[in-house]
This record gives sequence, C-alpha cells and structure tokens, in this order.
Amino acid sequence: MSDKNRPTPQPGILDIAPYLPGKSGAAGTKSIKLSANESPLGASPKALSAMIEAAAKLEIYPEGSSRVLREALGEVHGVDPASIVCGNGSDDLLHLLAQTYLGEGDEAVMNRYGFSVYPIITMAAGAKIVMVDEVDYRADVDALLAAVTARTKVIWLANPNNPTGSYLSDAEVRRLHAGLRPDILLVIDNAYAEYVTAEDFSVGLDLVHEQQNVVMVRTFSKMGLAAARIGWMVGPDHIVDAINRIRGPFNVNLPAPMAGAAAARDLEFNERLKAHNAHWRDWLTTQLQGNRMRVVPSQANFIMVLFETPALAARAFDTLVAAGYIVREIGPSYGIDQGLRISIGSEAAMRGVAQVLTSMDQSL
Ligand SMILES: *Cc1c(COP(=O)(O)O)cnc(C)c1O
Repeated sequence: MSDKNRPTPQPGILDIAPYLPGKSGAAGTKSIKLSANESPLGASPKALSAMIEAAAKLEIYPEGSSRVLREALGEVHGVDPASIVCGNGSDDLLHLLAQTYLGEGDEAVMNRYGFSVYPIITMAAGAKIVMVDEVDYRADVDALLAAVTARTKVIWLANPNNPTGSYLSDAEVRRLHAGLRPDILLVIDNAYAEYVTAEDFSVGLDLVHEQQNVVMVRTFSKMGLAAARIGWMVGPDHIVDAINRIRGPFNVNLPAPMAGAAAARDLEFNERLKAHNAHWRDWLTTQLQGNRMRVVPSQANFIMVLFETPALAARAFDTLVAAGYIVREIGPSYGIDQGLRISIGSEAAMRGVAQVLTSMDQSL
C-alpha cells in the first residue's frame, strides 16, 4: 500500500516472505549446528592462509573483476576466465540474474521445493514466480515444461536441489533445456555439485558452452568458506557482459578471491570433504531409513528426513535440540511440515543424531 507520509517499496516487495535461515544454538550453549549445510571439516588450510595474508591489505580496493579467482577456476574447471563472473556468495549472482532478466509481467518457473531464495529474487525484480509440482520430491521435467508460457523468462533449477537433496541427471537437464524457447534463460544452480557421486550427473558446464541461454552458478559456501561469501557463475559472453554492467564494481571483498583461488586448487582438501560426506551421508541414510522415517536419497551434503506426521517431525526437532543438535525445520520455508533437513556433520555428530532419532522412534 502506498503511504504519502513515508517512502513506499516497489509493488510486490512486501509480499515477499523473508528468508528464514537455519537456526544456530542459543548463545553460550554447546549445540552442534547441522542446519546450514556447512563444512564439518572446517576450511581448506590453504584458503585460510591466503585469507590471512590478504587481510594485510584491507585499506586497498580489491581488483574489481576477481581476476585471481577467475583464473584459478578457469584452470581447475577448464573454463575461459572471461566466461566467469564472481559474486559476494552465489546469492549475489542469483539476484543479479533476476534483476537483469526479469521485470514486471514476466514469469520465472521453479519446482515447488526448489531453493527458497528463488521466489524472493523473482518477486524483488517485480516478476511472478510459478511453482511446479514435483514427483516424490524431485523436479519433474515435463511439468516444468508444461508451466512455460509466453511470459516465462527464467527457469531456476537447483541441481542437486536444496532442501530435498534430489537431482536431475544430465539427460534430464538436457531434455529440459531442449524444450525451452531460446529466449528463456535456464539457470542451473550447482551449489552442491562438489558432493555429487551419481554417475549420470553432470554440472551445467557443457550446456553453457554449447548454448546461448544457460548459466551455471556455483558457490564455495558448502565447501568450507560460507563466511567468506564467494560465488561464481559461468555463462555465454552476452550474459556475462550484461551481469558485469550492473554488478557492484567491487562486489567481492579483497580476501575472498585469494581464499577462493587457494580453495579451488586444494584438491586434496576438497576430495577429503567429499569422501567424508559421501560416507556419512550413506551411513546416516541407512541408519534412519525405516524406523517410521523415510530419507529422500541425497546427492548433497545434507539429507531430508520425512516423518510419518508433522507432529513427529516437530517432536524429533525438539528432541534433537535438547540433545544439542540444531537441524533445519523445513515446514516454515518450504511447506514440508513432516520433514527435517540434517546437514552431514562430523562422525560424532552423525552417530549422535542417529542415536537420538532411532531411540526416539522406539519410545513411540
Ligand atoms: C546455499 C545455497 C546457495 C547460496 O549460497 P551462497 O552462500 O550465497 O553462495 C545457492 N543455491 C542453493 C541451492 C543453496 O543451497
């Protein structure tokens, strides 16, 4: 509503439900946080050293294009550094993509349990978000394509998806792309790509290289550098050019590209994190499955556990909190009231969570 006595946000802004972050433990308590998909093995030690070194230069503006990081990513991923744009977290880049390609009267399409930032950035750009039903907590390519209209400008696809952990195979992503008009932008958000072990998965890079309407968005946040806020995207020249025109000229702080470049090259650390995750993801899935819980198969660094009822999920949440484990309730942000999302943590945390949930189950 417009108010003559004070500044009024653009239409749609106040319709946006605020982003609900995962909870942290109360100050002074020793809770273990399994609610934000952070690394249980800390950050790459090489990234940490690079960041400390960079902290000696805080009075200087950073190099505006994050060249050091783009070169490292180019080398590690076999991409032309000129096709990369870096951001203050991948959130920054997702916002820029929405602002660049969406406006009033436009629609963006996403799967119903896709990442909760997509509705926010779509509506912030004045456009409408179209939510498409999934099949058993997995994006449905045919349904996504059926939801495309003359107004559709963007498809948001987290692959693997947060909060479900499910993914689309390379063939399915290609089928989705093949069904889109060339003026529709397909945004492939590969925030959890580093953790994928499925052999039929592929990051969005090949499609980006072959097509003019696909971008891949990535982040260091789930790989040990959430606090550093480092995201990157790869796209065709015309999209990179447009994003570079509107991004903040110094949108990435000076230490971040230094830390990111070191982290990208620290293959030993990245492998160790991936192996730890794959092991405990499988282990926790096996422990919890059955027991009046169902775990949706995950390719990410968390699992989504579905309980028989929302009341049981609420009780599991409270029991875990009481035992010192903060997990993510996904009723409020995603409408999955019977679900909890649990980040893969340390061995001790995973054993603790399994113990709490399986013994709670037996007491019912
Ligand atoms: C965590 C997450 C992001 C955002 O990460 P940043 O910390 O902003 O880089 C983007 N997409 C998905 C699907 C995520 O889960």
